[in-house]
Amino acid sequence: MTRSSSGNVYVPFGGKVEVVIPQARDISLFRVKTEAPLDYAPGQFFMVSLWGAGEVPISVASLSRDDAVVDLCIRRAGAVTGALHALEAGDTVWLRGPYGNGFPLDTSRGRDVVLVAGGIGLAPLRPLIEWFMENPGDAGRVTLLYGAKSPGEIVFRDEMEQWRDRGIEVLVTVDRAEGGWEGRTGLVTGLWQELRSDLQQATAYICGPEVMIRAAMGELFLLGMPEERIITTLEAHMKCGVGKCGHCYAGPRYICTDGPVFSYREVKSYGLFLSR
Ligand SMILES: Cc1cc2nc3c(=O)[nH]c(=O)nc-3n(C[C@H](O)[C@H](O)[C@H](O)COP(=O)(O)OP(=O)(O)OC[C@H]3O[C@@H](n4cnc5c(N)ncnc54)[C@H](O)[C@@H]3O)c2cc1C
Repeated sequence: MTRSSSGNVYVPFGGKVEVVIPQARDISLFRVKTEAPLDYAPGQFFMVSLWGAGEVPISVASLSRDDAVVDLCIRRAGAVTGALHALEAGDTVWLRGPYGNGFPLDTSRGRDVVLVAGGIGLAPLRPLIEWFMENPGDAGRVTLLYGAKSPGEIVFRDEMEQWRDRGIEVLVTVDRAEGGWEGRTGLVTGLWQELRSDLQQATAYICGPEVMIRAAMGELFLLGMPEERIITTLEAHMKCGVGKCGHCYAGPRYICTDGPVFSYREVKSYGLFLSR
């Protein structure tokens, strides 16, 4: 449910930054504590603001718990995210939400899952990973295919061993091997043949740059995965997050309220990719 201190969806509520955990160059995780527990789902987002700087949509990077904490993983892109990057523990940040539909978990119930992420696109999938770890019987084999430009740009690197220990298969590749990297190199879409799942029966959740999403969706479809089980989350410029401002209108859909999570079937039939 959407939380607002005043009943007005445009009025944000405050949270305190508990800790800032650097992840990669220009990417940090901000753990924010709010007064009351927040009820949010993987794939949803908050409108995050700072007085005098502005407001931007940021996906939840953690699973909703009773401890009134939400993790936000933010890449410094411009004015607002730049101001957010100046936050330190104890500072106040403002939130509206959660907004958006979130990932459909029933689509993967009883099936193998392939999570495909590029760069900071791993952040919105992290709550899904946490969810599959906490509910091990819900899906079959869960595999994360993750690609970053270079080893220094891998996010949540410190957590990957724990994910492996808790049953998630994690395959990482980088575009450029640097700093003694001995792992895989190449695009994340070059990892299909390493999968031990039957793609025709599995479900995919994808997040990353649009060029990667396009390639991953198309290739998974050609490999036999049905369109409705190829699921992604899309980005668009948005001001309100609640379907009023019209900035994120794409085809006949609003990314903010109808999405940001869509199946390949919806992406294709509504023409939702922004760079057409
Ligand atoms: C639903 C949703 C969830 C998001 N989740 C996250 C997240 O978890 N972490 C994160 O770091 N970012 C996330 N983003 C992107 C984030 O909102 C933008 O980076 C931010 O709005 C940029 O604002 P700014 O003022 O810092 O930069 P600006 O000065 O507004 O923009 C800097 C540059 O980024 C481009 N840009 C701005 N917004 C977008 C966008 N939405 N898509 C593509 N290019 C854009 C601009 O065209 C410009 O080139 C999300 C966006 C959406 C729509």
